[in-house]
Parts: sequence; C-alpha cells; structure tokens
Amino acid sequence: MENLAKDASQFTKVENKKLLSQLDFADMQDFEDAQRGLLGTVPAPGITNANGDVVWSVEKFAFEDIDADCPDTVNPSLWRQAKLNNIHGLFEVTEGIYQVRNLDLANMTIIESDTGIIIIDTTSTVDQSKAALQLYYSIRGEKPIKAILITHSHVDHYGGLAGLVSQEDIDSGKVPLYVPDGFLLEAISENAYVGNIMSRRMYNQVGIILDASPKGQVDEGLGKGGAINGEVSLLVPSHIIKEKRETHVIDGFEIEFMLVPGTEAPAEMIMYMPSKKILLPAELITHNLHNVLTLRGAQVRDVRKWWQAIDDMMAIYGDKTDIICAVHHWPTWGHERCMELMTIQRDTYKYMLDQTLRLMNLGYNMVEIAEMMELPPKLGNHWSMRGYYGTLNHDVKAIYQRYLGWFDMNPANLHPLPPVEQGKAFVEFGGGSEAVLAKVKAAYENGEYRFGAEIGKHLVFAEPDNKEAMLVLADIYEQLGYQSEAGTWRDTYLMGALELRAATAGKKITPPVGTVGVNSLNAMEDYMLLDFLSMLIVGPKIVDKPMNFKLVQPDRKSTYALEISNGVLIFHENKKLPNVDATITLNRNELSMLALKMTKPSELIASGKMTVEGNADMVEEFFTELDAFTLDINIARP
Ligand SMILES: [Zn+2]
Repeated sequence: MENLAKDASQFTKVENKKLLSQLDFADMQDFEDAQRGLLGTVPAPGITNANGDVVWSVEKFAFEDIDADCPDTVNPSLWRQAKLNNIHGLFEVTEGIYQVRNLDLANMTIIESDTGIIIIDTTSTVDQSKAALQLYYSIRGEKPIKAILITHSHVDHYGGLAGLVSQEDIDSGKVPLYVPDGFLLEAISENAYVGNIMSRRMYNQVGIILDASPKGQVDEGLGKGGAINGEVSLLVPSHIIKEKRETHVIDGFEIEFMLVPGTEAPAEMIMYMPSKKILLPAELITHNLHNVLTLRGAQVRDVRKWWQAIDDMMAIYGDKTDIICAVHHWPTWGHERCMELMTIQRDTYKYMLDQTLRLMNLGYNMVEIAEMMELPPKLGNHWSMRGYYGTLNHDVKAIYQRYLGWFDMNPANLHPLPPVEQGKAFVEFGGGSEAVLAKVKAAYENGEYRFGAEIGKHLVFAEPDNKEAMLVLADIYEQLGYQSEAGTWRDTYLMGALELRAATAGKKITPPVGTVGVNSLNAMEDYMLLDFLSMLIVGPKIVDKPMNFKLVQPDRKSTYALEISNGVLIFHENKKLPNVDATITLNRNELSMLALKMTKPSELIASGKMTVEGNADMVEEFFTELDAFTLDINIARP
C-alpha cells in the first residue's frame, strides 16, 4: 500500500516542544545506567527461529541511535525512552549477576550460583530464550541451569521456558521451576476468555505491524514491542511459593521470595538476594508509569495493593538494598537512588489512587477526572514515572472503572445509541455529510485534533466508505500519534490511521496470528476448557435443541456430564444424566482441535481418534455449529 504518512504539522511541532522545558533532558543518569556493564549483544539481523525468520530484530530501530536527534514526528520524551530501550545485549549488574535486556520486551536475569546458573524470567518466546542463553554462554562460558524462577503470570516472563528446559527435567527435579502461588491458573486464564479480541487489540497497542520508523513504531515504553514468528511455551512448575515470604537456598544461592498477588499481575512475587543486596521487584517497579488497565484490555488492577506492596518492600528490604534490578528496563545502583525510586513509585501510585477517589466523591466523572488530574512535579516529572506505557489519563479512568464502573449516572449515557446510529444522528444534526466533512477538515487544518477525531469518528461510522472522511480522520489520528508521549497511545493512533487508509484502498488490517491456539487450550483445566467451549456456542442457533452428552477424556482421566439447553452448556464432573444422547470419548488435544474448528467429529471418528456411542449426528451438529474467532476485526470503522 502507498505510504500516506504525513510530516508533523506546525501544531504538532509546537506541542512536542512543550515537554523540552518541563522535563530535565540534561539528566543523563538513565543513559549511564542503561549502558553500564554491557558485555556484548547478538549480531544482526538479531534472533531468528528454526526457519530463519527474524523473531527479534536488532536492526529495526537503528534510527534510534543514541546520538540521533528527535524527529518532528516523535514526542521528545518518548524518543528519549525509545533510545534507552534500544540499548540491548548482555549486561553485568554486579559480580555474578547478569541481565539480557532489550532482546525481548522483558529481561532475563541470570545468577551464577555454586555449580551453575539460576535464571529469572525467560523472555517471551523459545527462540529468544535460547538466543539469550547462548549470548550469556558465549561471554561467560557454558554452565548448567540449576533452577528457573518466574516472577509473574505474564507471557513475556514465561513464554521462553521450553527453550531453556524440558518438562522431564522439571519433573525429575533436575531443574526446579519456581513460580508464585496461582501462577499456572492465571497464566492460562488471563487470556483464556477474551484471548481473541485481546490479541486483536494487542496489535494496536504494540504497533508491531507498523513500520519501525520516525513516522511509525518507535517504542512501547516498557520496551521494544513484541516478538514475531516466535514460539511461546508454558511448562508445569515443580515449586510453588505459597507463603507470603519464603527463603530458599538454590545451588548455594540464597533468595528471599515475597508474594505480591493482585498487583501488576494476579500471581506475582518479588525477590531479594541478601548476598548481593539486590532487590528484584518483579514488574511493580519499572522506569515508566505502568498500566492500571492495559489498552488491549484486562481486568482492572488494584492500585491499593500495588502501592502497599512497594511500601512492604521498602519496609522489609529497603535498608539493605543497594541495587534494584527489575524485569523490564535497566537497574538502579546505590542505596539512596534505590530508596528514591521506590518512594517516587509508591507515592505516585498512591497519589493517583487517592486523588481519583477524592474527585470521584466530589461527583466528577471518569473523563473529567482524567482531564483534571496532574501529578505533583516531583512525582510526575521524575523520568521513571512518565507515562510511556500506562498513562496518568487512562490509569485514572481505570481506577474509576474499578470502583464505579462504566456508568456516570447521567441518564443520557444510560441507553445511548450504538456507534453507527450515533454517527448517523450526529451527521444529520451537523447538516449532512459534506458539512460535517468540512468541519473535520477545518479541525485538521486548525490543529484541533481531539475535536476533529470526535466529529470525524461519527462521520466514518455513519459512512464507513466515505474515503475523504477516512483520509482526513487518518491524518488527524496520525498527528495525535506523533504528539503522544506514550508508546502505546502512539501505536493506537497510528494503527487507527493505518486501518482507515487501508480501507480507502479496499484493504483490511489482518494481524498475522492470535494467542489462542491448541497449546493454550491443551494447558487449560477441564472447567476452563468447558467454559471456553460454552462461549463458542451461538446461543440463538441452539436454544431449541437440547442435547445431553457424556464427555470422557482418557488422558485427563475425567468424565463430565454436558447438559445443553436454553442455549447454555452446563457441566458437572462425574454426574450421571438420566438420558444421554451420546458418549464422546477423546483426548484433550482432539477436543481442543474441535473447539478451534480445526477438524470435525466425523474426521476424528474416521481416523480413530474419537469414539461416539449414540447419536453421532447430534455430536457433529454441536461441534460444527460452534462459532469461530478470527482477528479480522475492524476497530477504527464499523
Ligand atoms: Zn512484563
């Protein structure tokens, strides 16, 4: 497709200069820290998979060279973060402690223990974890892995497991796998129910299908976006940290664990290494304001637990911490600076929470509070609290959502028209599509981009094939993207522009791959898989077709009664039904494939991988009538 990206407008140039006087760009401490201890990195093109496809490119962001000037099309504060996140390789944190950074969104931390190494977090994919380990070996020599520790239930911290260890070695005790309580369940369930739409939205948040360029993707704030073409894995842990605090000596190396559930992730733990005076705060402390609610979607995180967990860390480990070494970004050295970092982070999260609650109780709604909220300069201007990933604006909205939900109690917002009808009504009220288009164009010319987006959105939803409207709205989104300090906001705007411009050429944005595959379904508990199956049922189609099945999964040693009536599937383990239409026997892998419509019951029966006693036609009908999810979903237009 023709590259329609525009230059920065005069308004964007002026807007982007504002932060230059507000923030301390002369402070180069972060650059010093991000480069400290660099031992080497992977050669170009970067990390590849078995087929030779690039999984992680080290060339993609070459334009963000440490000396490169900020382009007009990038917010200077984001540009600074983008350069910091482009410093990649293996680093020595202190003697015996190493980190592989920016060869994935997340870091891999390596501890040299008595007879080998202990690895904390694995990066996102098998290909990246292998490459990270090889990089370490090439510089520090080959040593056996004595244990793997996973800080929390997000894929960028465990997805590379199978590149480091086999399930057999975990089960035999050769390489114990330590995780926080609830890890496996949360790792699977956080994306299980809305995995498809979350994947689709993720592409917009991360922007990895944008070109990496000064007019495209530059950074995600937390790091350099996601990997592509890589294989994601999940293995069953052998050691679960269950107590609030536990101390373990692993291959002669002492580590204190503290659980911090329900903070940045539902299952999460921090670690303290007394012999090195290192605090590893998992993802509770990073060098940007984090998300209370990611733009891709999630359940709202609890900021109250978050600030309290940082406070606990300070109370228990603060006095004896000389280095903070986290799972994203670069470490912080020196006791005073560690205490300052923890104080600023704790106080920012608490300030944001307290002030949002105060303003809510004064009667302001979500959008109003997000607009009003400002952090005190000492907190808000601190480089580690800039909104590169989370933002003050959307975090405040998330807090509102957690406590009061979507409704602001204004009756006009109780039962609004859906977007297309709203768009049509708006266009009619605005004097017809030509008059509204003229207003959108004027807003663009005058640099009133938020206003232009508001009215342009209605026009595009009213007339989804109006090319002129889509093109000017794309231009508006693009300038908003150029102005965004958050990498996630920039990507969201630029992906909107990309989608609209593609639509004018009759094309669609189709992300390459989603996260819900056979492997994730195979890893689910029975009840989760049955929940998943339940939401694939097209209710209206099946509402008058009651069916009773007995489901036997020999490999799971489980038997379930499935009662389908009123368009819902009710399931009970080991329940005896009076009337069974069919008994279905198959292993999980085949059940997962049926759920994802990769096969049909008749095909599985023919190949001997499934048996049905009773009404086979009914079983065929049930599975073929399930819905199928794809990533072919519009976002910026109906
Ligand atoms: Zn992470």
